[in-house]
Amino acid sequence: MTLDKLGRELRDLRISVTDRCNFRCFFCLPDGESYEFFRREEILSLEEIVKFTKAVLPLGIKKVRLTGGEPLLRRSIETLIEKLSELPIEDLSLTTNGFLLKGKAKTLKLAGLKRITVSLPSLKDEVLSRMVGRDVKASWVVEGIEAALREGLNPVKVNVCVVRGINDSEIVDIAKFFKERGVVVRFIEFMDVGNLNNWSLDKVFSVREMLNLLMKHFDLEPVEKSYKGEVAERYRYKDDGLEVGFISSITQPFCGDCNRLRLTADGRLLTCLFAHEGYSIKSLLRSGAHEEDIRAFVINLWSKREDRYSEERLELIRRGVKPKKIEMFKVGG
Ligand code: SAM
Ligand code: SF4
Ligand code: SF4
Repeated sequence: MTLDKLGRELRDLRISVTDRCNFRCFFCLPDGESYEFFRREEILSLEEIVKFTKAVLPLGIKKVRLTGGEPLLRRSIETLIEKLSELPIEDLSLTTNGFLLKGKAKTLKLAGLKRITVSLPSLKDEVLSRMVGRDVKASWVVEGIEAALREGLNPVKVNVCVVRGINDSEIVDIAKFFKERGVVVRFIEFMDVGNLNNWSLDKVFSVREMLNLLMKHFDLEPVEKSYKGEVAERYRYKDDGLEVGFISSITQPFCGDCNRLRLTADGRLLTCLFAHEGYSIKSLLRSGAHEEDIRAFVINLWSKREDRYSEERLELIRRGVKPKKIEMFKVGG
């Protein structure tokens, strides 16, 4: 049975393979805070991740994305990709901060990865270092992107989390830089994920503002959604046909069409990016459950979900309500 028959499509599975990261982006895992990372024995083994994925694919999942923390820090990530690429997944991808990508692009491709998304919020070393909380050079990440392009991890996409007053002045330059390289950029509004990133509405640079800026420099036309529930609002440069995307979860929430299930590295399922605890499936996976049992668990969870945090956010802010939420580096975006 697929869940769209229940009126609640489940299309997209996001798997966080670790909560560790070599960056400390202030919008995700701010430096200076003390964190409890998962202990080794708490995290799902590669076999458990594959078992879960295999069990839920028949529910209609088309896309599987590996994320983190930083997924390239997970030992044997290539082995996981090899095993997943044997499954009937239409679109298997991975999101990385790109720091280790130059050395890994080849093995990722050989393992069976089809495409990759690299997060790079600034092309200026000083701004990037401030944003990711480490002394880094943008060229290291750009070299990773170039290696991914050479290996044919296509399309390579770049995620840019835009924070007002920090990197909004670079939007046009970033668009231009990657347009020249044929790389699709997705500009993302700064989100209030977790409880630690000091988010406030005045730091959100809206997609409308981004588009207004870009339209002054480029001839853009909107692209039809390719499926219901597609998260990015897509546009196309009229001169070369390259796409550019925008994710406006703050200013234009899309909860009604939300079709993404998230699995944390320690085996919890979250039906919303802004949920808190989630529902552990680890003991089920470790008790030798059959695929049907795992599917039944997910069907039950998904058919009861009523998540619509992004639609409720402004009202909650107005009432001064601050719900506890899982941190971004635990849930993977
Ligand atoms: N470490 C990998 C990376 O940075 O690409 C994967 C995990 S990261 C949590 C996934 C995506 O979430 C990245 O593109 C990152 O820029 C984005 N992100 C993190 N915190 C965010 C926030 N508060 N608002 C919007 N996007 C955010
Ligand atoms: Fe790490 Fe990605 Fe979070 Fe940055 S956004 S701290 S790279 S998990
Ligand atoms: Fe889905 Fe939750 Fe985001 Fe709404 S707020 S789109 S329900 S993840």
